[in-house]
Amino acid sequence: MAEADYYENLAEWDVDRYLADDAERKRFEVTAGMISADATRLLDVGTGNGAFLSFLEGREAPLTLCGLERAKSAISAAQCRTEIVEGPIDALPFGDRSYDTVTALEVIEHLPHGVYSKALAEMARVADSQVLISVPYRERRLMVVCPECGCRFSPIFHLRTFDERTLERLVPGFRLSRFELVTIEVHWLLTAVATRVRGLRDRLRGHIPVPTTCPQCDFRLGPAQRSSVQRGSAGGGQGRSLRSTLLDLVPKAKRAHWIVASYERMQ
Ligand SMILES: [Zn+2]
Repeated sequence: MAEADYYENLAEWDVDRYLADDAERKRFEVTAGMISADATRLLDVGTGNGAFLSFLEGREAPLTLCGLERAKSAISAAQCRTEIVEGPIDALPFGDRSYDTVTALEVIEHLPHGVYSKALAEMARVADSQVLISVPYRERRLMVVCPECGCRFSPIFHLRTFDERTLERLVPGFRLSRFELVTIEVHWLLTAVATRVRGLRDRLRGHIPVPTTCPQCDFRLGPAQRSSVQRGSAGGGQGRSLRSTLLDLVPKAKRAHWIVASYERMQ
């Protein structure tokens, strides 16, 4: 299956990209700050390489943690000390109300029809009091066209978009208690120019920005996988500080990039 194949082959499981990136860290901080003060047991579903669990392990408040992930390659590249259980998100191998809080960060936008509602019902079953969901906010999804069969799809398998309204009724038996927008500073001018240039190049060359698999015909497309060494070295060094200094001169704007919603069980 194309989307299972996509997650198994994701180059980014190898690297510590979430903890090294300021914007991703901010998303973790906001989400962690919304965990109920009474929670002692937390399950993170679709945990990937466990970057959020690793972030939580570094906090003072003691929580009993567990992760759930489907992709074997993500589990074998785990960044956390916490155990990650292999399993499907729409049939969670845990008892009813066995965790105070169940989190799903940047997960539900990836879930196909059918799996989506089952997964939300499963989170509601396993969570005793709280479900925390983080998703991209009003995302303008990039779409690509498969050169083999013409299918148009999101190469990063974002299958739906969210705003305050779509998040209002999401988790069965739970009500939305609060949400937070995670804003990041964007070089809007550079981003606007780069997006136009890339869009034009992609149209001319049929370029696909990331390695992916067509959901209709399973055709593999996109550039070769980036080496983890290159990705891993992006965090520091003099090159970066010069680049940052130059980038600081370019105007920036704040943009809400993610939304984190907290749901509490209705009595
Ligand atoms: Zn195709």
